[in-house]
This record gives sequence, C-alpha cells and structure tokens, in this order.
Amino acid sequence: MSSRNIKNKQQKDFLNPEVVSTLNQMNEILTKLTSGASLKYIEHVAYLVTLNAVNKDIEYYYLAVSSSLIIIELSEHIKEIEEHKNSIQKYLKLLHSFITKNTMNCNKNIKPNHSIIVLIQNILNIQKTLVNYLKAESSKIYNYKIQILTKILQMMSETPFTLSLIAMQNLIEKKLTSNIFPNYTSSSAPYLPNYGNDKYTLVLDLDETLVHKHNEQFLIRPGAIEFIQTMKDHFELVIFTAATPMHADYGLKIIDPENHIKLRLCRDKINVHDQDLYKDLSLLGRDLNKVIIVDNLAENFRFQPKNGICIQTWIGDQMDKKLFELASELEKVAKSSKSVQDVIPLLPKFNNN
Ligand SMILES: [Mg+2]
Repeated sequence: MSSRNIKNKQQKDFLNPEVVSTLNQMNEILTKLTSGASLKYIEHVAYLVTLNAVNKDIEYYYLAVSSSLIIIELSEHIKEIEEHKNSIQKYLKLLHSFITKNTMNCNKNIKPNHSIIVLIQNILNIQKTLVNYLKAESSKIYNYKIQILTKILQMMSETPFTLSLIAMQNLIEKKLTSNIFPNYTSSSAPYLPNYGNDKYTLVLDLDETLVHKHNEQFLIRPGAIEFIQTMKDHFELVIFTAATPMHADYGLKIIDPENHIKLRLCRDKINVHDQDLYKDLSLLGRDLNKVIIVDNLAENFRFQPKNGICIQTWIGDQMDKKLFELASELEKVAKSSKSVQDVIPLLPKFNNN
C-alpha cells in the first residue's frame, strides 16, 4: 500500500514545509518496517495531524503510534515480549478501524474524541510496561535502540514535535549508538535539522564558558544552570564544543539535567585552519544573521567575528558574575529583536578577555 501523501491534503496550509516533509519521510520509513502492514493506522493518524496541525495532542498521538510500531520492529526477535506486542497490535487495529470509520464518513473536521484517547492511552500504557521490562532485562536483552527510543519518548514533551520525529528517523536508519544526542542532528553539514524553529540560535561553548573540569570533577560556573533555563525560552540552544561527546554529555548532565539542549555538536564538527581549531557557524545550516555564539576563546569564531560574544575564561572563581550579566543582555536582545531579521547589530559589547 502506498503511503498517504500529506502534501495533497487540502489542509496543507496548516503545516509548514519542514513538518510536511518530515511526516512524509517518517511514513516512508514506517512502510519499510516489517510491521509496515500497520501503516494504515499511522497513515490515518498522520491524516489527523494534517487536519489539526496546531493540536499538541495530535502530535503526541502520532509519536505514540509511530514509536509503538518502531518498538515492535526493534524487538522482532525478542520472544519474551510477544504478549505485550500482541496487545499493542490489538489496540492499533482498533484505532485503525475507529479512525477509518470516521474518515470514511468524510468528516474532515474529525477531532480526537474519547475513544481515540482511550485507545492511544492503552497503547502507551503497554508501551511503558514493555519499555520498563526491556530496560530491566537489558543485561539479557541488550538493545541500545530501544533504550534510546525510550529517552526520546521521555523528552518528547519538552522537544519540538518535528525534532522528536527526526530523532526517531535517525534512530531507525543509523547504526547502533549508545548516545542519544547525535539522533537530533545530521551526521553531515548542515548539522541542525529544520523543524520550524522561529527563534534566534544561541550557540554555546562548554569548557571554561559554562563548566571547568578540575581533578576529574566538573565545576559549574555560577549562574550556568539558570542561564540555560532562562535562555531556552528565548533562543534555540546549541552546544558547540571541541570536547568529546562523552565529556560534553557528562558536563551537560550536571548543568542541564533536564536535557533542554538537544542540539550538541562536538569534536568531530570542529574545523582546523593553520593548525588552530575554529567553529564554522555556516555548518549549522542557519541564517547567520540569526546566530549568536558565546565562547571564552574569540579565536574559535575568528572567521565569523560579528556573530561572537567572547566571555571571560572561567576556571573556578565562585564570585564570577559574567553569566548573570550576559543572561540579562541576551534577554534584552531576544525581546527587542522580535521583528528584526538581523540580530548582529543588537549584540552586546561583551568582550571581557
Ligand atoms: Mg571553551
């Protein structure tokens, strides 16, 4: 069965092109799964998404049903969970017949009603039990992909819908990895996916900007945790560090325990010129007039100096106030630049080196 092409729907204007493209790609991927016969269900949920683009519940349902199909696929050879999988399939079938009945009545204004919510809730409950079982049995059933999918689902409510979808797509298509964050970015430039982000992008260095590692211990720069929590509301946040992914994730776990920053570019994305490292912002795939980088080394952004704010190097001074000062300056930028296309002229003079 060919997948339903969302682009042809009358309601396409409700969705931005990136979301449409991602949904179509996701449907293509799901068709190829061994459980691809179940695509009918997902297709109809996708159809509902096109009708209710702004409805957060519908997005949640779409992710719930997609992830159920992916779990079934990933656990194909795990006999112990046959019963859970059968239950999920049963509810997916009920969901399918329910949605088909409604859409066949040409009710283009179909809204998620109580029956759909109950069915999807049942799917989610079984899915949760299943994931817990797989996690508990991970020494016997060693499946990184399921563990990562679980984390993507846990972070779903704090993640833009399209970004969660992209992470799931990458998870299915990429080789096994024990790290969740590469799933939110592309493996080749431009590294940041388009997911309908309408904020300016704030690129943050890690070491000596937000943290400092001393004697195997991560020290937190005063204000770093608050800085991330405040800035996430105003900017698309990206970590761009010359550190290894393991070092970056460990440091960020301390200053960003709720994983607000999913877009993380590490050592392999750093360029070298004349034997010195630099961070090339053009690799991000964002309009450079809307990108700000904060780094304790100005040479890291020497090829795009207008985008940079150089913050004083921090190695442990507990009286340091620079992040508090920067936060209030950047909040002003975010608030004053709503209708401005070019953020560069608004950047505070913050050269503290
Ligand atoms: Mg640094």
